[in-house]
Parts: sequence; structure tokens; C-alpha cells
Amino acid sequence: MTRIAFIGLGNMGGGMAANQAKAGREVVAFDLSLAALDRAAAVGCSPAASVAEAVKGADAVITMLPAGPHVRQVYAEHILPHAPNTALLIDSSTIDVESARAVAVQATAAGFRFADAPVSGGTAAADAGILAFMVGCDEADFAAIEDVIAPMSRATMRAGDHGAGQAAKICNNMVLGISMIGVCEAFALAEKLGLEGERFFEIASKSSGQCWSLTSYCPFPGPVPTAPSNRGYEGGFATAMMLKDLKLAQEAAAKAGASTPLGATAEGLYALFDRLGGGGKDFSAILELLRGNAP
Ligand code: NAD
Repeated sequence: MTRIAFIGLGNMGGGMAANQAKAGREVVAFDLSLAALDRAAAVGCSPAASVAEAVKGADAVITMLPAGPHVRQVYAEHILPHAPNTALLIDSSTIDVESARAVAVQATAAGFRFADAPVSGGTAAADAGILAFMVGCDEADFAAIEDVIAPMSRATMRAGDHGAGQAAKICNNMVLGISMIGVCEAFALAEKLGLEGERFFEIASKSSGQCWSLTSYCPFPGPVPTAPSNRGYEGGFATAMMLKDLKLAQEAAAKAGASTPLGATAEGLYALFDRLGGGGKDFSAILELLRGNAP
């Protein structure tokens, strides 16, 4: 039986580890939070007392941690010294490209195969096993990585070499942040001009303003029943998470010398919305800020 070590059982990792267990794999799990460990045990994972214990004898190690410093520390101090170097190492956290590449260098120098494999899709997709994975890895390792990821995924795409998965994730989410603000500005302007939101939606969704933020995730309540705008912007993809990804994109742009003025403006607007108390709301709630309403 494939033995998976799963490290980081939070909002995302909890559901992902459960789907590995549901697929019949032996999942040995670790998190600093005892409550998270108890939840993992209830869905078929075996709790471990430490990362070192979890990775012992693992065929694959999956990490789902908050940010770059956590990933760097857990790999350097706990995974690389204790996992067998035949284990496939997959980090699905969203982190900076530089940290992903630094961990890849350390892992490959120690004889491991490593992939950065951040995900698109929120906690509902994690629970349902339908996340999209963007993978940075050696081409020769991709088939094995795809096989490990399969119970958690609806699409697994190789973006390129180490770090390319994180690059794809932050570039995609920069488009999303910018396009959502564009759609929200258009709804706010339409309203001021006396154009009904529903009519604007019908017209723009069949015209050149059409995009995912408008037609799949409409920030104006009504036209897209599944969108968080219909439930008070609860659930969905939190503003604080979008802000984290926009910050990562800006840091990467500064280091790479790329010009991303709209990405910088989007980061500024989401930072303002977060400071005003909107951090826990879905990111499409930025419509309220652009309408002149505090969250
Ligand atoms: P979370 O804070 O709910 O979970 C992180 C878990 O890591 C926590 O349970 C924490 O206790 C654990 N942890 C921290 N340091 C640890 C250590 N040293 N050893 C073991 N466990 C440790 O976060 P989340 O929402 O599950 O997000 C995880 C990652 O996925 C983040 O990088 C996030 O940006 C990314 N992501 C989140 C979403 C989302 O909608 N929540 C969507 C896509 C990607």
C-alpha cells in the first residue's frame, strides 16, 4: 500500500489528507494543532507525534503549510534529515518562488525528487478532491507526481521546472485579482449611470467584457446563483488569501524586474479592504468598497 506522510492539516490539508485515505492509501499525518490531528484521525489518517515520525518509511510526503518560512524550516529541519530519499516530496502550499527553488535545490542535493505543486480551488474543492494543481518539477518525475496527487485533483498540469508551479499560481491569481476589481468597478459605474446590474450582466456576458470574474463568480448578487455574492460574501476565497497571493506576485515582480502596475494597484486596494475589516469576506466583496460602502 502507498504510504503518504501528510504535514499541515488545516483548512485545505485536512480535506486533502482525507481524500488520500479515502483512496485506500496509508496516510500518516502531522500538524502542530492537536485539534487538526484529531480531525485527521476521524477521517482515516494515522496521527504521528512529529514530522520525523510521519515521514519515516514514506513513499511520498505532501506538505500544506501557511507560507515560505514554514516550508523552508519543515523541509530543512524535519523532512530532509528523516525521510527515505526514495520518497517523492510534494509541497502544495502557496509560497514565494524563491523559497520553492531553494527547497528544491536542498532536496535534490540530498537525492530526493521534489515538486512545488500549489493548488487552485478553495476548501470546498479540497474536501471534494477536485483541486487544480500547478506543478514545477523535473519532467521525468511528473507521471509519479500526478499519480500521488490524483485523489485530490481534477486537473494536474506541469508548468515547468522547480518554481514554475508557484510562478503559475501567482500569475494566475494576479489576473484574477485585477479582473475582479475591473468587473466590480464596472458594476459600480453602471449603478451610478442608472443601468441595472442584471441588464449590465446580460449584455457584458455576451460582449467583450466577458471574463471568469463576471460570468462564473459575479460579484453583483443575482445573476450567478453559486457565487459568494448571493450569501453575503461568506465562504469562497477570502480577501486575506487574495492579498497574500498579490503580495507574492509583487515581491516576485520586484525581484525579477517585471512591470506590474495593475497588480500593484490591486494589491493596494485589497490591502485597504483588509484593513477596513474585509479580510474574512470573499474577495468579490471588494464591490462594496468600490460602491463607497465600508465592509
Ligand atoms: P491553515 O492555516 O488552515 O493550515 C495550515 C496548517 O499548517 C495549520 O493547521 C498549522 O497548524 C499547520 N502548521 C504550521 N506550521 C507547521 C509545522 N511546522 N508543522 C506542522 N504543521 C504546521 O491554512 P490553509 O487555508 O489550509 O492553507 C494552506 C496553504 O494553502 C497556504 O499556503 C494557502 O495560501 C494555500 N491555499 C489556501 C486556499 C484556501 O482557500 N484556504 C486556497 C488555495 C491555496
